Amino acid sequence: MENLKKTILIVDDTETNIDILLELLGEKYDVIVALDGVSALEIVEENEVDLILLDIMMPQIDGYEVCNRLKSKESSSNIPVIFITARDDENSIEKAYEAGALDYITKPFKALELLARVNTQLKVKELIDHLDFISSYDEMTAIYNRRKFFELSEKKFAHSKSNLYAVMIDIDKFKNINDSYGHPMGDMVIKLITKTISKHLSDDAIFGRLGGEEFCIVCNYCSFGGVANNIEEIRKAVEDLEIISDEGRRIRFTISEGVAKVSNDTKNLDELLKNADIALYEAKGLGRNRVIFR
Ligand SMILES: [Mg+2]
Repeated sequence: MENLKKTILIVDDTETNIDILLELLGEKYDVIVALDGVSALEIVEENEVDLILLDIMMPQIDGYEVCNRLKSKESSSNIPVIFITARDDENSIEKAYEAGALDYITKPFKALELLARVNTQLKVKELIDHLDFISSYDEMTAIYNRRKFFELSEKKFAHSKSNLYAVMIDIDKFKNINDSYGHPMGDMVIKLITKTISKHLSDDAIFGRLGGEEFCIVCNYCSFGGVANNIEEIRKAVEDLEIISDEGRRIRFTISEGVAKVSNDTKNLDELLKNADIALYEAKGLGRNRVIFR
């Protein structure tokens, strides 16, 4: 990741301005150019853009409007915007910050200063992205952590309750793996299992680590057949996994899964998860490595 060049989008309707910025930024960054606001918004939709240098005075939609539209969309609201314009009156500057800009550079600008300011915003963005990641994902498995899992699942429960399922998953006799092979092997098993499960899930499934060896999926399925197939497929895929230890021992492991569906009576997410948990305990009680529906 670190060797990848950052991408900067330059939005300006004057080609000579673009040429100057290209000359300045082209070597260190990947640069995309837009000559008007509409194409700038289209480019942002289709590309990973790390920072935008935005002119104010442009035909059709001006820079303020472009910035407003970027900030009102979740997918683009985090892209840092630096205005770069000939306007230097306080009103224009204030309006730019109100629209969501992080910085404001007036033309003519000093080359080194512009570079430094671009670099600063990119660094801040990187830090924010990193904080975002560690506050949302489990460090070991890179699936959602408990906090993010509940945040997203609550939203899903509130907005798309029909055909919503919770699947509680627990690694069978996980303590034995840790005791027999040590914790590093236990970690390896957890990583391999979560990676395998992730591969079998649709993009809108919420998959999180709730604790040590306990995981949960919250997902909408079209039919009971759909969820049954998917969850059984996951159980089978884990059963087929194998790790060879340093001593050459074959390590196999299984999971138990408890599945619950939202009904008209399900009051909240907690109740749905509790039902899945009850099913999970039943699966454990019946000998593990199985799926129980409730
Ligand atoms: Mg202009």
